Amino acid sequence: MTCDLEGGNLGSMNKVVEVAIGLPVSKTFHYLIPEEFRGSLRIGMRILVPFKGRKVTGFAIDLLDAPPAGIEEKLREVEDLLDEMPLIDPAMLLFCRWVAEYYVYPLGEVIKTALPPGLHLKSEWVVSVTDRGRMALRRGDCGPMQTRVLNEIEGRPSVPLKDLLRAFNGEVTRDRLFSWKKQGLLHVEAELDGKEVGPKLKKVVQLSGGSIPVPPSRKKAEILKWLEGRGKVSYSELTRQFKSPSQAVHSLEAAGYLLISTEEVIRNTSVQSDLKPYPKPEPTRNQQAMLGEILKGVHSKRYSPFLIYGVTGSGKTEIYLRAIEEVLARGKEALVLVPEISLTPQLLSRFKDRFGENLALLHSGLGRGERYDQWRKIWKGEVPIALGARSAIFAPFRNLGIIIVDEEHDPSYKQEDKLKYHARDLAVVRAKQVGATLLLGSATPSLESYRNAETGKFNLLRLPERIEGKSLPQVEVIDLKKGEGLLSEKVRSALQRNIEQKQQSLLFLNRRGFANFILCPDCGLVFKCPNCSVTLTYHFRDRSLQCHYCDYRVLAPGDCPRCEGHRLRGMGIGTERLEQEINSLFPGIKVERMDRDTTRRKQAPQKILKALESGQIDILVGTQMIVKGHDFPNVTFVGVVSADASLHFPDFRSSERTFQLLTQVAGRAGRGETVGQVVIQTFNPDHYSILRAKDHDFLGFYQEEIQFRKALDYPPFSRLVNFRLIGNSEKKTQSLADEMGQEGHTLLKKGYGKGIQILGPSTAPFAKLRGKFRWQMLAKSRNSQLLHQFARTLAASIEGKAKRAGVSLDIDVDPIFIL
Ligand code: ADP
Ligand code: ZN
Repeated sequence: MTCDLEGGNLGSMNKVVEVAIGLPVSKTFHYLIPEEFRGSLRIGMRILVPFKGRKVTGFAIDLLDAPPAGIEEKLREVEDLLDEMPLIDPAMLLFCRWVAEYYVYPLGEVIKTALPPGLHLKSEWVVSVTDRGRMALRRGDCGPMQTRVLNEIEGRPSVPLKDLLRAFNGEVTRDRLFSWKKQGLLHVEAELDGKEVGPKLKKVVQLSGGSIPVPPSRKKAEILKWLEGRGKVSYSELTRQFKSPSQAVHSLEAAGYLLISTEEVIRNTSVQSDLKPYPKPEPTRNQQAMLGEILKGVHSKRYSPFLIYGVTGSGKTEIYLRAIEEVLARGKEALVLVPEISLTPQLLSRFKDRFGENLALLHSGLGRGERYDQWRKIWKGEVPIALGARSAIFAPFRNLGIIIVDEEHDPSYKQEDKLKYHARDLAVVRAKQVGATLLLGSATPSLESYRNAETGKFNLLRLPERIEGKSLPQVEVIDLKKGEGLLSEKVRSALQRNIEQKQQSLLFLNRRGFANFILCPDCGLVFKCPNCSVTLTYHFRDRSLQCHYCDYRVLAPGDCPRCEGHRLRGMGIGTERLEQEINSLFPGIKVERMDRDTTRRKQAPQKILKALESGQIDILVGTQMIVKGHDFPNVTFVGVVSADASLHFPDFRSSERTFQLLTQVAGRAGRGETVGQVVIQTFNPDHYSILRAKDHDFLGFYQEEIQFRKALDYPPFSRLVNFRLIGNSEKKTQSLADEMGQEGHTLLKKGYGKGIQILGPSTAPFAKLRGKFRWQMLAKSRNSQLLHQFARTLAASIEGKAKRAGVSLDIDVDPIFIL
C-alpha cells in the first residue's frame, strides 16, 4: 500500500529552514540548508542542527528563501536530515502549533510529545552496499552514476550519508540514494545509539522465480526445493530447517536463485484480552435515533460535536462502535480515547471483536517498540482505527472522520507533568481543525461539557435508561457518625447475602495501604515523609511506612522514636486492612484486592478482572481502579466504605469528583438480571454530592454545583492558569514567589486588572513534594485570550530569574486539580 507522506514544499530549493528544537526553549531558530539537502528537506522532518556547542534534534517547521528580516547573526548550517519522510504532516503541525500557543509550551517539545517516545535521540544515516548491489556492480548492470557511488563505498563497512553527499558535491541527491535503496542496491540505515527505537526487521528469503538450472551442491538443491511453493520464508525459519545455511544461501543469492530482503515485523501489543466474545446487538430505537443524529454530522464533513449523556449501561459503547463502522464505510478514520486501557479490558475486547486487525492501540502500558510499531501502522495508513489513552490524541491520522472520548469527565485525560494538556479539550480542537465529528460520552459529564451542551456549543444526546429497561441500583446512605465502625450492619449483611446467593460484591475505598498514618498517643508524634508534606502510610505486608508521592520507604518502628512509648497506633484504614477485615469476617471465601500495590505487574489488572468475570472472586476490594466502566452481570452489591476522602480535597472540583466517583462505582452494580444494591458510608450524609449520587441525579447535581461555580466565578465560567514555582531551596523559591506576585500585580495595574484576578502567591496545598518546595499563584479570568497574554507576559518576565535561582516555573493552563 502506498501513501502520500509528503509534508508540502516538495522538491523546493529553499535555502533556509525554521527549526523547532526538542528542548525547553520557547523560540524557534533558523539554519541554512546546505546544497546537498535542498530539495530533500521537507517540513515535518527531523534534522540535526548545531545548538550551543552541541548537536541537537529539531523539527523543520518552515522553509524560506532567505532568513526573515531582523535575524542578523550568521546562520549556521543543518548538519543532517534524520528522516526519509516527514514524521508530521501539515495538519499535525498546525495542531501542534495550537497546543504550543495554548499551553505556553515550546513547539519543539510539543512535537516531541506528539511522536512515540524514543525517536528523539541523535542518530546518523549510514550507507553500505548490499550483496545485490555488489553483484550488479560486478556484472556491470549499473548506470554510470550508480557505478561511481557504489565503487566509492564498496569495501567499506559503512559511510555516513552526509559524507557521501559531500563527496559527490551535488551530483547525487539524497532522494536518488533512497531510490537505490528501494531497488535493493544499498542499505541506508539510521545508526542507532542503542536507546532509539526503530522498526523491528527480519530477514526473509524467497526464490527469485526464474527457471532453476542444476544447482551446484546437494545442500543448495535441498534449500531450493524446500523453498519451492513457500513464498517468503523468514531466515530464522530457514536456519531451523538447515544447519548453518548462511554460506549456501548467500551463494545462491549471488548466483541469482534467491532474493534476500528485510521486512518489518510488527511487535505484538502486550494488552491482550481473552474475555468472552461480545455479540453485536441490534440497536434499540433510542440508539437508532441517536445514530441518525451522529451520522448527519459525519455526512456533513464538518466539525459536529456531540455530548452523549447516558446513564451507566445505557448502550453508549454500542453507539461508538456503530458510528465508527459508518465512518470507516466512508473511507475515513476513527480515533477513540479511553481513560485507561489496562483497566478497561472489556471495552478493548469489544473493539477487537468488532474491528480486529483494523485497530491500533496506543498507550503507555506498551513497550517502546510496540508503541512505535502501532504508531507507524497509523502513520503509514495501514489501520483506520486507534484506541488509546490520552496521548493517542496525537495519533498521526490524515483523514479523521470521528474522534470519540469515552468517560469524558475522567481526570486521567489531563497530563499532569511536562506538557499539561487535557486530551478531551484537545479532541475538541483537533476535531474542529480537521472538520471531524466529535463524540464525548459519560454518565457523569464534566461541568464544562454539560455547560457547553446547555449553551449550544455541543449537541446533547441523552440515553436516560439502561438497556432492556434494567433499573439503576438502589442506593442507601449510612451515617458513620452514628458509630457503626468500619463496616456497617447493612454492608455486612449485604455481603453475607451475596455470598449465600453466589453473587459478587465490590467494596470501594479510595486509599491503599493498611493505615493512613501512625500516631504515638503518648507524645502525639505522627510519622511524616521527609521529602513531602504528607504523612506516611503503613503497609502491613512488608511492615513498612511508605510515602505515596515519592519513593520514600522505611521499616515501621516498634516503639516511638521520640518518647520510646510502646503504644504506636495506626489511624484510618486503607484497602490492605479492609481486605484483612473481610477475610476474617468471611473465612473461606475468595477475596481479591485491586489497587496500585496489587497491580504493579503488567497484565495484573486484566487478570483480576478476568477472575471476577469468571466468578472466581466473591468480593473485590479496591480503590478507584474498580470504578471504571466494567460490566459484570453477577456483581449485585457495591459498598462504598468511605465516601469522604475525595470530599475533603482542597480543590474546587472536589464535590464534582466525589459525585462522579460515587455514581460510577454505583453503576457497577446490577448490570445483570438482578437489581443492584449500593451502600455508601460517610460522615457527610447530607452533602449534596452524596445525596445526588444516591438518587442517580446528575442534572440535580449539575444545577446545584453550577450555582457555586457561578457565584465564585470558577470554571466553566472562568478560566484558570496556575503558575507554580518548584525549587530545592525553600528561601529562593519563596522569594521568587514574592517577585512573581509583585510582577503579577504590576501587570494588573498596567491594564490586565480589568479582566484578571490573581489568587496568591501562596504555598501549594502540597507545600513540599519529592524534596522540592512549591509555591503557586492562580490567575483567573473570563477572557481566555487576555489570560493567555497575561500568562505569556508573566512567564517571559519570570523565566530568566527563575532559571538563575534554580527554580522551575511550571505553567498549568486549565488545571483540573490545583494541588
Ligand atoms: P455504556 O457504554 O453506556 O455503559 P454499553 O454499551 O456497555 O453501555 O451497554 C450496556 C450493556 O447492554 C452491554 O452489555 C451491551 O452489550 C448491551 N447492549 C448495548 N446495546 C444493546 C442493544 N441495542 N441491545 C441489546 N443489548 C445491548
Ligand atoms: Zn514523599
